[in-house]
Amino acid sequence: MTRRYLLRTFGCQMNEHDSERIAGLLSAEGMVPTEEAERAEIVVLNTCAVRENADNRLYGHLGHLRPLKERNPRMRVVVAGCLAQKDRGLIQRRAPWVDVVIGTHALPALLDLIRRAEEEGPQMDVREFTEVFPSALPARREVAHHAWVSIAVGCDNRCTFCIVPLVRGPQLSRPIGDVLAEVQGLARRGVVEVTLLGQNVNTYGRDITIPDSPRKPLFAELLRAVNGVEGIRRIRFTSPHPHDFTPDVIDAMAGSEKVCEHIHFPLQSGSDRVLRAMNRSYRSARYLSWLERIRGAIPEVAVSTDVIVGFPGETEEDFRATLDVVAEARFDQAYTFQYSPRPGTAAFQVPPEEHVPKQVVQERFDRLLTLQEEISLGRNRELVGRTVEVLVEGEGRKGRAQGRTRGNKVVHFDGEPAPGRFVEVEVVAAHPHHLSGAAHQPAGV
Ligand code: SF4
Repeated sequence: MTRRYLLRTFGCQMNEHDSERIAGLLSAEGMVPTEEAERAEIVVLNTCAVRENADNRLYGHLGHLRPLKERNPRMRVVVAGCLAQKDRGLIQRRAPWVDVVIGTHALPALLDLIRRAEEEGPQMDVREFTEVFPSALPARREVAHHAWVSIAVGCDNRCTFCIVPLVRGPQLSRPIGDVLAEVQGLARRGVVEVTLLGQNVNTYGRDITIPDSPRKPLFAELLRAVNGVEGIRRIRFTSPHPHDFTPDVIDAMAGSEKVCEHIHFPLQSGSDRVLRAMNRSYRSARYLSWLERIRGAIPEVAVSTDVIVGFPGETEEDFRATLDVVAEARFDQAYTFQYSPRPGTAAFQVPPEEHVPKQVVQERFDRLLTLQEEISLGRNRELVGRTVEVLVEGEGRKGRAQGRTRGNKVVHFDGEPAPGRFVEVEVVAAHPHHLSGAAHQPAGV
């Protein structure tokens, strides 16, 4: 009888891509996906430790699964991802009906652990290092025209608010030949857009040594190599660190026609004092000068950012410095977050009396959002009347087609919502979070 699995993913793109690999492993065993927990024999919760209240949410989900498992003793419950790596034995102590706890480095062992759980009882593998680079595993992708391609895992930085180095370990880059082989294979299967993934993507290759060569493959070199893969029309990457947008990376972006004119340039704070407390390696003036250099080299570039509001000790003056940098940088888009402590991070140690009161954080957050919406609208208005290339993602709001520009802006337009199709769209209206357009003619598939 065909076995069914239910897979729930929480968190970031790295986790989504891990879930594609979990789905790939289960599918390779002949299992099929289901959305109904009652019908599933394998339930996998792929957790994220970055999001607020991640553990409460996990135990909430596990609580719902408990009676289902009592009714269906064949069901196996797997907890994977960053929270599994971080909390380890705690999960099975709090939820003894969990069959497998599998950390971020142990994915290749998933099927074996499930088998052993069936024969011997609960299993856990939270090894500290990756022996097989995760992308070597099969992946089951939901979208035919786009693929995530993991090029590195882990991070060597120590931003004080971030849990990633603890749960994903130091940076481990994938050999350039393996990345290229995967991208070539994807192109042969009809993928036209790839997003290169790494926790600190633009330090790719710094941990690799090539025999008989003093050189290390660097991110710029990888961008150029992927740019040469026939069939691929768009290249994106995430998530970079501003510090590592070195001149060679900017040159490679500017000189590689398939690399999209979009960068994510995480600011986090505009206050030098807060940046120091966050252990970010740049200060606001340096950040703005890097941005100017990027815009000089890639004039059409769209820039998005991350900003954390209410980091412990943030004063009104610090926050105003953030508003000033945001106003000067004129980001196309900003992902704004209210600081909340994450167990395991350095900032978690800050005593509660140094935390910014919740209502103050909320009030600052609202001011930042108002400013950014105004800026985003202004940036989007600059595109009205222009014709842009849109890669169709499918059906969006009100039955209209939805796609993205090379600058990663969402566009709604009347036309066929055929995913993977390129369409020329004239922008007729701008909104803070999307553009509205009228399709011209197909730009080829
Ligand atoms: S560079 Fe990014 S992934 Fe690395 S510690 Fe800082 S925020 Fe986390």
